[in-house]
Amino acid sequence: MGGRSTARPAEPVALLSSQREAWRRGECPPAAEIVPGVWALPVPCEMFPVRFTYAYLVIDGADAVIIDPGLDTPQGFDALADGAATAGIGLAGISGILVTHFHPDHLGMAARLRGLSGARVSLHESEGATVAELIARPLERSRRIERRWGEAVDAGPDLVDALRAQSHAVADLMRAQICRADDHLRDGARVAVGSRRLLVVHTPGHTGGHLCFVEPEAKLLFTGDHVLPTINPNVGLHAGASDGDDPLGDYLAALEHVRTFDGHVILPGHEYAFTGLSDRIDALSAHQSARRQNLLSVLRERGPCSVGEAARALTWSRSWRDLGAGERRLALATSFAHVRSLEVAGVVAVVDTAPTRYGLVG
Ligand SMILES: [Zn+2]
Repeated sequence: MGGRSTARPAEPVALLSSQREAWRRGECPPAAEIVPGVWALPVPCEMFPVRFTYAYLVIDGADAVIIDPGLDTPQGFDALADGAATAGIGLAGISGILVTHFHPDHLGMAARLRGLSGARVSLHESEGATVAELIARPLERSRRIERRWGEAVDAGPDLVDALRAQSHAVADLMRAQICRADDHLRDGARVAVGSRRLLVVHTPGHTGGHLCFVEPEAKLLFTGDHVLPTINPNVGLHAGASDGDDPLGDYLAALEHVRTFDGHVILPGHEYAFTGLSDRIDALSAHQSARRQNLLSVLRERGPCSVGEAARALTWSRSWRDLGAGERRLALATSFAHVRSLEVAGVVAVVDTAPTRYGLVG
């Protein structure tokens, strides 16, 4: 168990720019104390394009809570243990594990950490339900997405097979790095860490039960994948979605929800810590508006489209032909989310089946 660290944190501005410089050089930055008792511990996940996840350690009195322990690999475990040691904590002394969302680069090491320390794992209640479903009916989600994509992707069996293989690979990784939650958190709850109180903020979009955490005294906002400095988080209609879910609408509302924390230092799951929350929210919203306009003009020019046809006609970072199976999978999930959002708004409706095609209303 650790007391509050006596090491002096770097000046916040110098610290933020040193994280950014390391990220720009393609390096994993060193463990660093953001403000007294709050540490950023980079955990590598080289199989992911983001390369590393920040686990954050919040220490106060006898409490030491980890936010997002990172992907469970031998290198990740060593990085987390070394980073915690720099902060004066052994992993057996962790008293709580808070997780922003169930993706393996965030939740992955939670089960191992719980085994070592006995600490309880907390997720948002709907994320906890997703995890429970992944554990109880592991194939159900893959089957569901195959059904949706079979209806939506009229691109021949090759693409459907590639997408199916990719979705099975993702599902396998998620199953291998899953961890059942001990406690379920709700929006507005406060989590005690010694004398600190971390505020829980539900920010659905990237996943349905995504959480941010706020340290109000030090003005810190832990954003997971909800707000990142350069990446637009994937907001897609994924396998677990129910009819009527509108992840894009949820995400845009959740961006506005966290805007009230403008002025806080943003401690994201990847890349680097930064300030200027309101400007970043404007840019993230503008990115989604541009894609929505892109989809509307595709539907105007081509008439009713399946989600597959729309995805192939939309503008992505590279041409559709050059996207790999994993990128096409995300592009399709994104296209689904945009079509759904327009459907919920009454702007498009289903006009054809086999494949399902959507057209502009009126
Ligand atoms: Zn992530």
